[in-house]
Amino acid sequence: MNVVPWADGEGSEMTAQVESGVSKTNPRGLVQSHLNRLITSSPAISSGHNDIKQQIKARLIEQNATIIAHYYTDPSIQELAEASGGVVSDSLEMARFGKDSDAQTLIVAGVAFMGETAKILTPEKRVLMPSLAATCSLDIGCQIGEFNEFCDEHPDRTVVVYANTSAAVKARADWVVTSSIAVDVVEHLDSLGQKILWAPDKYLGGYVKKQTGADMLLWDGSCIVHEEFKAQGILDLLQVYPDAAVLVHPESPQIVVDIADRVGSTSQLIAAARELPNPQMIVATDQGIFYKMRQVVPDKELLIAPTGGSGATCRSCANCPWMAMNSLETLLSCVETLSNEVFVDPTIARKAMVSLDRMMQFQGS
Ligand code: SF4
Repeated sequence: MNVVPWADGEGSEMTAQVESGVSKTNPRGLVQSHLNRLITSSPAISSGHNDIKQQIKARLIEQNATIIAHYYTDPSIQELAEASGGVVSDSLEMARFGKDSDAQTLIVAGVAFMGETAKILTPEKRVLMPSLAATCSLDIGCQIGEFNEFCDEHPDRTVVVYANTSAAVKARADWVVTSSIAVDVVEHLDSLGQKILWAPDKYLGGYVKKQTGADMLLWDGSCIVHEEFKAQGILDLLQVYPDAAVLVHPESPQIVVDIADRVGSTSQLIAAARELPNPQMIVATDQGIFYKMRQVVPDKELLIAPTGGSGATCRSCANCPWMAMNSLETLLSCVETLSNEVFVDPTIARKAMVSLDRMMQFQGS
């Protein structure tokens, strides 16, 4: 896979429109250098592999372990998670499932912040990941040192961070939110007269700000997958499929969100595919979501929203390179050798638990 430099597409135009806490070391450069190292070594999407699946299932039973997989992982992993009594879900439900599960070992097939969150919420359990190198451009682009400085400069603001952040950033925050509850939490805080400092996703932050009218100061981070979706490409696709509905994750640029029939988290987009009557769905999020979406709407046609655009700026092509580091092979190795255990500094974990607990309680109320 070729890696091209960050290019000015539709998404980049948004940068100038957002209030932002611009990182002194340029998070985009940080992300790109990280990708240059990782993206070329991402394993290919695996399929079939009944032998390896049987081996993993046997080890899961031996180890009293369960798989907690994100919607963006390889379909073979999602299938195995479901077939072995685990779960496939968004990051909030992944956290819930791990907390409520009877299994003593949680295999988190996702990215680093999901493993950390599972460990913080269930410190008594062993948390393993197929790859500890699987991270997230939002997490990389919000380093704790600079984030602390940003917070220190705005002590009058309530700090709300997206779940896609490190444990250290969560420990500094007042609230953690997922995309499924971000609007509701900020609406609640706004009703209390609170001003918000938001990090790290500027597009999700911009969307929440527009929906709620809250006073929000935004960190300048972005998801390399969702930032690539192109409004013009979707409009072109609608010429071919005029009856299609457009489903968009709010980590996408505002110009893409503006043409959506439904905007929402992964779980909300799957629900939208079921609820909307349209025969085709144009979907602007990681294409891993199609595994669950096809289960829900087997008779509808699912189309991935265009990413490359006329400038051919596609880097991830709607497939997160870090999620792709979760393969059946790395999963088997992890459960066989009990390697890649996740640890979180207990002091950081205690502090992060406060903002995470608010998220869990808010959703549960
Ligand atoms: S899809 Fe985007 S937000 Fe999700 S893990 Fe990958 S880089 Fe992070």
